[in-house]
Amino acid sequence: MNHSQSSALFARAKTLLPGGVNSPVRAFKSVGGDPFFVARADGAYLHDVDGNAYIDYVGSWGPMIVGHNHPAVRSAVAAAIENGLSFGAPCAAEVTMAEKITSLVPSCEMVRMVNSGTEATLSAIRLARGATGRNKIVKFEGCYHGHGDSFLVKAGSGMLTLGVPTSPGVPAGLSELTLTLPYNDVDAATALFEQHGTDIAGLIIEPVVGNANCIPPREGYLQHLRALCTQYGALLIFDEVMTGFRVALGGAQAHYGITPDLTTFGKIIGGGMPVGAYGGRAELMNQIAPAGPIYQAGTLSGNPVAMAAGLAMLELVSEPGFHERLSARAARLCAGLEEAARQAGVALTTNQVGAMFGLFFTTEKVDTYAQATACDTAAFNRFFHAMLERGVFLAPSAYEAGFISAAHTDEVIEATLAAAREAFKVVAAG
Ligand code: PMP
Repeated sequence: MNHSQSSALFARAKTLLPGGVNSPVRAFKSVGGDPFFVARADGAYLHDVDGNAYIDYVGSWGPMIVGHNHPAVRSAVAAAIENGLSFGAPCAAEVTMAEKITSLVPSCEMVRMVNSGTEATLSAIRLARGATGRNKIVKFEGCYHGHGDSFLVKAGSGMLTLGVPTSPGVPAGLSELTLTLPYNDVDAATALFEQHGTDIAGLIIEPVVGNANCIPPREGYLQHLRALCTQYGALLIFDEVMTGFRVALGGAQAHYGITPDLTTFGKIIGGGMPVGAYGGRAELMNQIAPAGPIYQAGTLSGNPVAMAAGLAMLELVSEPGFHERLSARAARLCAGLEEAARQAGVALTTNQVGAMFGLFFTTEKVDTYAQATACDTAAFNRFFHAMLERGVFLAPSAYEAGFISAAHTDEVIEATLAAAREAFKVVAAG
């Protein structure tokens, strides 16, 4: 594959943008090599500036669940821009969007639109703190909730001690308020609440972890967290930025039958435009300004073009059978990859929930962060590059979930498996 145009662009970009990118994972640092620059995207495919095509399992990190550049989303955007790009005053599409979200996700009686997943999670923890009058929040190892200061924190020495920043620039005084738990560990959660429960404003979790590869909850785990939060008066916050409208139409909370107090959304609700949202019971949401005293605002929030794109996307994913079709294809992909790996003598297991999946270069089924980080990342990196050379783009990190879209037809999956059969031979050769 020729990459000369991408290489030239990356060289220019590195002098102008930190690391040559506007979001770190795009720089291919963990897999090595240089990123390709995208010229256009269509259906299941990305096309780079050198004319190479790739089957895309990143899907803009989740939003493109109906495939890239879907005509219905594009025409909704085209119609919206006829009327202007931003009003700074209320518009009807915001109301329609709120009606759509609250009807699909009943735990959200009211919502507030924002512009990214990060804004949604930051706003949700402010609401949790403001509503409970408590300061501590709980998060999980391997979960990502955007780049807010309170989330760039890891456990200090010993699980029950104060959190420490994972990035310079995060004040220790703030990180101390974030407590970190191992995901899928019932006893650790119980012990933490026994010690700190009455100081905890909220517990935020990716109900299916999509930022440490793909790790589903163990049977009963989310129910246990729900019960702990209820017992201690802490708010349960589901970060459904990835899982929302993806693992099921009603998100992970519908899939697992749990009612969180607050939910954060991003990605799919923007249809590819920069959008996020958070929502919950009216009694909580009415504490947000101007209805209540907890401040949160946004000049571009509820932007008419973004609302149009998101609404068109939500219409498409609401079609009967949509999620079942995607889930069946994701299952087929995972089974095919496991079989291809086995034939090549490569250790591989997979996880899959709806249209989300994860590949683990290991012999065991993975359901903890410790297991996910113990996998053979060198094997993943070889697989990633062998697939890329064969025209398949996987997330450029062993710690990211993969995404299937409606444009990933059986033929596309077959083409992926054909590439994988060759790529696993490269992995096996070492
Ligand atoms: N929460 C989760 C679960 C995410 O996966 C992400 C981003 N991948 C975010 C929050 C942050 O969203 P954004 O990048 O739109 O700020």
